[in-house]
Amino acid sequence: MTARDGDARAGVITTRRGEIETPVFMPVGTAGTVKGIRFEALETELDARIILGNTYHLWLRPGIEVIRGCGGLHRFMSWQRPLLTDSGGFQVWSLGDLRKISEEGTEFRSHVDGSLQFLSPEVSMQVQAALGSDIVMAFDECAEGEASIETARTSMELTARWAQRSRAEFDRLQADGSDTGRTDANETLSGGQALFGIVQGASQLDLRRESLHRTMEIGFDGYAIGGLSVGEAKSVMWRVVDAVTPDMPSDRPRYLMGVGTPEDLLEAVSRGIDMFDCVLPTRNGRTGQAFTSRGKVNVKNAQWAVDTKPLDEDCECSVCRRHSRAYLRHLYQSGEMLAGVLLTHHNLAFFLDTMRRVRQSIRSGEFPKFRQAFTEKLNEHEQKNALINA
Ligand SMILES: [Zn+2]
Repeated sequence: MTARDGDARAGVITTRRGEIETPVFMPVGTAGTVKGIRFEALETELDARIILGNTYHLWLRPGIEVIRGCGGLHRFMSWQRPLLTDSGGFQVWSLGDLRKISEEGTEFRSHVDGSLQFLSPEVSMQVQAALGSDIVMAFDECAEGEASIETARTSMELTARWAQRSRAEFDRLQADGSDTGRTDANETLSGGQALFGIVQGASQLDLRRESLHRTMEIGFDGYAIGGLSVGEAKSVMWRVVDAVTPDMPSDRPRYLMGVGTPEDLLEAVSRGIDMFDCVLPTRNGRTGQAFTSRGKVNVKNAQWAVDTKPLDEDCECSVCRRHSRAYLRHLYQSGEMLAGVLLTHHNLAFFLDTMRRVRQSIRSGEFPKFRQAFTEKLNEHEQKNALINA
């Protein structure tokens, strides 16, 4: 940690592929691609320092034999900056009735070809070693936000046992050299993968605290709060974050998984969170929705038909410098793929630039002031939009 403003923290995470300044937003690259954007744009204009890959998706397709054969995920996709891979636990959990959970792991049907598959802490660690990501997530089990205390406890205890098994298998794989990301083409990299533990326990605050302590006893390089942003009320999410963060080690990264909107990011930063990932900027970009400093802009709306202003007048991204709302609306209405590409680019630029400004404001001790100004501008326009759309 390099600076603190209230509970908000600015710091640096050191990985074998470079440093990541926090708080950080990590674009989601589900299948080895951040959908709709080229790596050149992520590296240069947007300067994303770390992106995510999904273990579940990459394991099913193209499969780890292909990725191992191509020298690991970094070389396969040609991205030399840090990668974080999730454990696949959440994706499998999201399959609902299509999966069966036992002590050993989770059995499910592949969404690709319907074949029966089995994911466990050991398999997840093996897949993530083959991918060679720089930050590996422990294999966890999620419980519904509204789960009963019994269900939440059973799930949290299973997660604790799986965390132990994840740690053991991870250590074994590190020792036997299974991690494909150990070296780059020039053999200049060194150091192993980092392993993060995940705190579960649904909305039960005592269980959440117990989960954190059991995870810390095992010992991880960073700690994530999982099982949130799955449809529970925002107030529940903040209660859980507040219950957990005071006991989290102050010298380790804190990652709130699957969050969120720009307002959520600022709220979480103010409560001491350092890392985020979310599909919102990319997914909404593909469905015609832009995040801007004055709230969301839906390019489908007829009100933009001859609007020659950029999406966000305060955004300096290459899309806002060049194109008008009217043009973007036309592209979207015509089903042109460039619409999704340009909106995704702007949305990621907005998220990453917001986080850059968050870091600066924490370092200069002006985070509350920055946050207030940011929120006021956002709300002013959201209210205006609500009136227009009413
Ligand atoms: Zn822009």
